[in-house]
Amino acid sequence: MAISYIGNIPNAHIRDHQRKRLYEAEEECSFWNNITVLSINNIKHLVGSISEWAEIKPPTIILEGHIYVYATQDAIVLPYTGTQTLPFICHEMSHVINYNSTDADHHGRNFASTYLKVVRQFIGLKSYRELLGSFRKHKVKYRRRKIEIKIPKVMDMKNGRKAFNSVSIEDQSCKVCRILSNNDVAEIEKQIA
Ligand SMILES: [Zn+2]
Repeated sequence: MAISYIGNIPNAHIRDHQRKRLYEAEEECSFWNNITVLSINNIKHLVGSISEWAEIKPPTIILEGHIYVYATQDAIVLPYTGTQTLPFICHEMSHVINYNSTDADHHGRNFASTYLKVVRQFIGLKSYRELLGSFRKHKVKYRRRKIEIKIPKVMDMKNGRKAFNSVSIEDQSCKVCRILSNNDVAEIEKQIA
């Protein structure tokens, strides 16, 4: 295999099967055109904010003495000014978060979903939507977000079927509705009771 991982990372045996597709997908996004080089203080601040948000120990920031851009569980390596930018840092910090999780998978579906969340939080909703669209176009797999919901209400619909209605705990403006089979109804009524 031609894959060479750099640094000491977990799950090095897991094949990095969608790296190329993910690179192609992100490159098409307009936020990757942001080549503003961040100052050392801004890099530290961004790395610190992302770490705090992800509840991980901030990695050591290495800005010189290396050839490659990479990340491990406890280091982020950005050796060129061209990589000391918002999109590069969001990508590499998603690796740091992924390598601190129990689901480390390089550029796999867990990484992709973390990367989406980092972009949403630290670049913005528009960029998040753009990246999501590009992932779909390039068939980059990502783990779908599980929506935790408040206790659902079972409702009768006009056609005699039942549906449940609820709202997401995280975002109460997000309504969740699902038409139920009879088995689902029995299951939900058990849970509510
Ligand atoms: Zn990467």
